[in-house]
Amino acid sequence: MPVFDYAPAPESRDIVALRPGYGLFVDGAFTEPADGGTFKTVNPATEEVLAEVAEAGPADVDRAVAAARRAFDGVWGRMRPAERAKYLFRVARVLQERAREFAVLESLDNGKPIRESRDVDVPLAAAHFFYYAGWADKLRWAGFGGDPRPLGVAGQVIPWNFPLLMAAWKLAPALAAGNTCVLKPAETTPLSALLLAEVLQQVDLPPGVVNIVTGAGGTGRALVAHGGLDKVAFTGSTEVGKQIQRTLAGTRTKLTLELGGKAANIVFDDAPLDQAVEGIVNGIFFNQGHVCCAGSRLLVQESVAEPLLERLKQRLATLRLGDPLDKNTDIGAVNSAAQLERITELAASGDAEGAVRWQPECPLPDRGWWFPPTLFTGVSQSHRIAREEIFGPVLSVLTFRTPDEAVVKANNTPYGLSAGVWSEKGSRILWTAQRLRAGVVWANTFNRFDPASPFGGYKESGFGREGGRHGLEAYLDA
Ligand code: NAD
Repeated sequence: MPVFDYAPAPESRDIVALRPGYGLFVDGAFTEPADGGTFKTVNPATEEVLAEVAEAGPADVDRAVAAARRAFDGVWGRMRPAERAKYLFRVARVLQERAREFAVLESLDNGKPIRESRDVDVPLAAAHFFYYAGWADKLRWAGFGGDPRPLGVAGQVIPWNFPLLMAAWKLAPALAAGNTCVLKPAETTPLSALLLAEVLQQVDLPPGVVNIVTGAGGTGRALVAHGGLDKVAFTGSTEVGKQIQRTLAGTRTKLTLELGGKAANIVFDDAPLDQAVEGIVNGIFFNQGHVCCAGSRLLVQESVAEPLLERLKQRLATLRLGDPLDKNTDIGAVNSAAQLERITELAASGDAEGAVRWQPECPLPDRGWWFPPTLFTGVSQSHRIAREEIFGPVLSVLTFRTPDEAVVKANNTPYGLSAGVWSEKGSRILWTAQRLRAGVVWANTFNRFDPASPFGGYKESGFGREGGRHGLEAYLDA
């Protein structure tokens, strides 16, 4: 198979005007943290420090929650729903207008390829605001009773893998339903949320409706434990989700959790193999595998395992790893040194437990944090790489003989976020999908997202749904 050399095609970073320092966004203005604490955010592809960002402590969180409460009791709470919608439409349009700036900033701060931030993260973030803007004055027809009310002030904590998109998933439905928000971005990727704060100023969103407190786990803990919130929405690891659930047990604060996953991507013997190969690649190597719903366990029917793996290896050898700002890049940098360490440790456990590692020839840049696309065969269900979320570009391959065995193996996990089924037969797809304990099941595709479609987990992948009409329920007193 010919593999072409591509000339570098880097996207210019000039469109992004990085400030040396960023404050907290509270009550419509950027402010200094009470105790002056800051942390650095770093470009994971180069280890260059991008900016110094304010670290919010309990006093700052308290100020942000108070601002959100004033806005809820005041201007936002009294505003006609159709007026609220106009702000969301404006945010969506400005995200489109400033799309390239957001895409470049996201790739700089997160390490993801510009192709993905440009074609997935930013357009989908805008689509969420458009979609929920349309609901703001139609809540009575959403199926949650004749007069659904907003809950009040929502505290929202998000992870680093889709920083802007997760902010959009949280803010758009909450605001459409009439709530006000305090958002806590992840500590390694705060910049796109802070640029979003500038957009909120640009569209004249009333002060206090959205507040953004940056910081690490301590800031998240202070927000969750504040006591003045009507609702907490968390996306992140199952471990932290459990801690949050313990903190809020017995309080009046409502909670939704979007947590980890270990999705099965099931390929039956009648599947179109070339198409399946593309879906497998998209399932686990999209966003360096930092995807909660990644297809990290490939379950392939034994009779087609050999040809499928051969084609998969050929395809992996063509993936380009490197500069996230290069438009030809398929695999960017791992988001942090800590995440690289976790991926490396779990991959090593695969070797130690007897699975067989395969990696294409893939030179890694000297600086930054990188992990090559990796495939493990000979994986058994008891191996850690089959049970634990790796959150990196590592695929564990298992085989099955009968559809029943595929379903049992797919469901043999504490998680239940997503799954994929590849088959030419519609009846087989439906038979399998009905038996999978997963919030989303993709058929002959993978990692497709649409704001109109609900997303969420079973079991330790969390509870509550984001997206679609269902996503409004979490923010309504219905
Ligand atoms: P994480 O749980 O460590 O952090 C997530 C967020 O929570 C960050 O903003 C962090 O600062 C904050 N946080 C950390 N400790 C906290 C605490 N004790 N109290 C309150 N907040 C706290 O997870 P991560 O490493 O940032 O993200 C990766 C995880 O997120 C993976 O497990 C992935 O599957 C999951 N994820 C899930 C979804 C989904 O929709 N289900 C989407 C994206 C990521």
